[in-house]
Amino acid sequence: MVSRVIPVDQFDLVIFGGTGDLARRKILPGLFRRFLSGQMPEGARVIGAARSDLDDAGFRDMIGQAIEEFGGEETADKDRLAAFLECIHYVAVDATGEGGWAQLKDLIRENVVRAFYFSVAPSLFGALAERLHGHGIADRNSRLVVEKPFGRDLETAKALNATLAEHFQEDQIYRIDHYLGKETVQNLMAVRFGNILFEPLWNNHYVDHIQITVAETVGVGGRGGYYDKSGAMRDMVQNHLMQLLCLIAMEAPNQFEADAVRDEKLKVIRALQPVDFHHIVRGQYDARGDEPSYREDVENPRSHTECFVALKCQIANMRWSGVPFYLRTGKKLKGRTSEIAVVFKDLGHSIFEGDEKRHRNILAIRLQPNEGIDLQVTIKEPGPGGMRLIDVPLDMTFADALGDDVDEATDAYERLIMDVIRGNQTLFMRGDEVEAAWAWTDPIIEGWQTRNDVPKHYDIGSTGPEDAMMLLHRDGRRWREIKG
Ligand code: NAP
Repeated sequence: MVSRVIPVDQFDLVIFGGTGDLARRKILPGLFRRFLSGQMPEGARVIGAARSDLDDAGFRDMIGQAIEEFGGEETADKDRLAAFLECIHYVAVDATGEGGWAQLKDLIRENVVRAFYFSVAPSLFGALAERLHGHGIADRNSRLVVEKPFGRDLETAKALNATLAEHFQEDQIYRIDHYLGKETVQNLMAVRFGNILFEPLWNNHYVDHIQITVAETVGVGGRGGYYDKSGAMRDMVQNHLMQLLCLIAMEAPNQFEADAVRDEKLKVIRALQPVDFHHIVRGQYDARGDEPSYREDVENPRSHTECFVALKCQIANMRWSGVPFYLRTGKKLKGRTSEIAVVFKDLGHSIFEGDEKRHRNILAIRLQPNEGIDLQVTIKEPGPGGMRLIDVPLDMTFADALGDDVDEATDAYERLIMDVIRGNQTLFMRGDEVEAAWAWTDPIIEGWQTRNDVPKHYDIGSTGPEDAMMLLHRDGRRWREIKG
């Protein structure tokens, strides 16, 4: 299959924090893959900026090594890598000082797309924005990319939005949530709004409930200090899970255009009802053998931060009234799965004698592993013996169905960065969306603090605390399996 590549304008992309972990592991290997697929126009430039005392050659060495380490098989072509590295430059700047800015200004070209990626701590956003503006490096057409976490509550998110707004308009700001760059997430919109099959059923008449699961097998890794101040609610639910919930629940925008889509997502967040504390379960994993517990991992023996959350929430609108949305995410679980499952109601009556099971159609949208969609349907069990019914998945794993095109396009960062250059904000969170999401999660987090809520324990390699199972059992439902 031949992929259709939308051309990208000439650009200068400055990555503040170019020497950091995110730039080396994700951003630059992703850009190299775009280079390999011919999406970086000739002459496009990537400029690393950080305090480290490096020149172009030193930075190119660093990035060459990072690409070899993190870039995957397709990046092994040494000649192409050398050609890509030619596009890369470096300027030493301190976000909070004045050195290096004049050099950066000289390097940046007129009449090309200028994009500035803030891959640094949010505490530096204000200083960077101010200097970009003050030194005349950013103009009205420049684009600004910012990373999560976008605040740690409503107040800090508002302050960040206000800081950026001093120098950039909302249509220049691209707040990245890399979940939105995944092929399947966009396919969710294609499936919902490009097929006649699903939309008529997409409401409380036909949908029993919806489950969104983002399960990880990894722990907090080396990020213990950061993570323990954040927790799963801030780190995963407020952004990734809520974005998925918005896409699954939103009304059809009148066109696939940034503000039309984001207006609809915002309406969903605003319609979310406050969560009853009986409908939330938090957890921390215990030690297993020589694997440390969460508290040992974060080196805080009294930590009450959750690394697992399961909750049930409701959307107060005509489409979804009465349909529970169950969200769960956690670390060191049984398997690595990200999935949205739309569980339809059963038929209520079976015409097949002896068929007592309540069969349900389930549309499962898998973000990882094996991005794809499967639809569980009920069919006759093959062979003699009458009409025995079984449930089977109609599986469409994109890599099987679409071949190489998927591999080329899977990395979310690549797609999102190219969207920045194209000026397409559809897959980026708008400031008011982020604030509305915090306005919903803040009372939950504050409630835990005032109640001195202690997370439940769970075993490493399990599906989370027992109480998370009960959350659905009480409603006569159960979680979908997390495959190990
Ligand atoms: P990191 O490894 O600590 O890198 C931070 C970068 O900022 C380095 O390049 C550092 O370079 C530069 N820097 C620090 N102080 C500076 C200053 N005063 N002026 C200019 N540059 C400065 O952090 P990271 O993991 O790459 O994360 C960057 C941002 O992305 C953070 O906001 C993080 O929360 C977010 N994020 C990271 C990940 C991830 O997987 N790593 C995922 C999602 C979001 P010098 O020391 O050379 O100045």
